[in-house]
Amino acid sequence: MFDPRDLPSANELLEAIQYFSQQGWSPATSTNYSARSATPGHIIISRSGVDKARFQLSDLIMTNLEGEVLPPFQGPGIKPSAETEIHTHLYRLFPQIGCVLHTHSVLGTTLSLEHAAEGQLRFAGYEILKGLEGNATHDMEERLPIVANSQSMPDIIAAMESYLRLPLQIHGFLIAGHGLYTWGRDVASAKRHIETFEFLFECTQVMRRR
Ligand SMILES: [Zn+2]
Repeated sequence: MFDPRDLPSANELLEAIQYFSQQGWSPATSTNYSARSATPGHIIISRSGVDKARFQLSDLIMTNLEGEVLPPFQGPGIKPSAETEIHTHLYRLFPQIGCVLHTHSVLGTTLSLEHAAEGQLRFAGYEILKGLEGNATHDMEERLPIVANSQSMPDIIAAMESYLRLPLQIHGFLIAGHGLYTWGRDVASAKRHIETFEFLFECTQVMRRR
């Protein structure tokens, strides 16, 4: 169903979705994932309501940057996630973003609630920080903003507005009690960012227990 030019990205996205599910980062049909299509203004995105442990290539659909499902992907019950608006907003603002990934891990959820009042998590001194695009050393501080959860996507986008400006200084954000959004120039780099942040969440949790 995908244009041959989009098939590599769709397959890479599928592999990332399956990997995140194996890690327990997408329970109960939650989370959503997308990549930019070779056709300008179109994106490949996970459809809503699918168990990520059983996710298949046919569960990826295409929309435009208004979030409208494109033919031939329309059909009964086929809809993009409620959070598609966050994905399309990021693609519209930042041409360098080629992939947006959103996970619901236990640590992303609990740490984001615990640090909600501070409005951010801060990570410094970790070698793994180099997993985030553009970071060349451990000797730095990475900030991950935390915004309040809402069922209204425009509210979440408005809460992120001060961070989502050029030049883009952040690699992602947390929604309190909900999960992590991150992005990259392609699927591989966005997947690396998810893994980097999840590793940093674990380090934060382990250090806190000491
Ligand atoms: Zn979510």
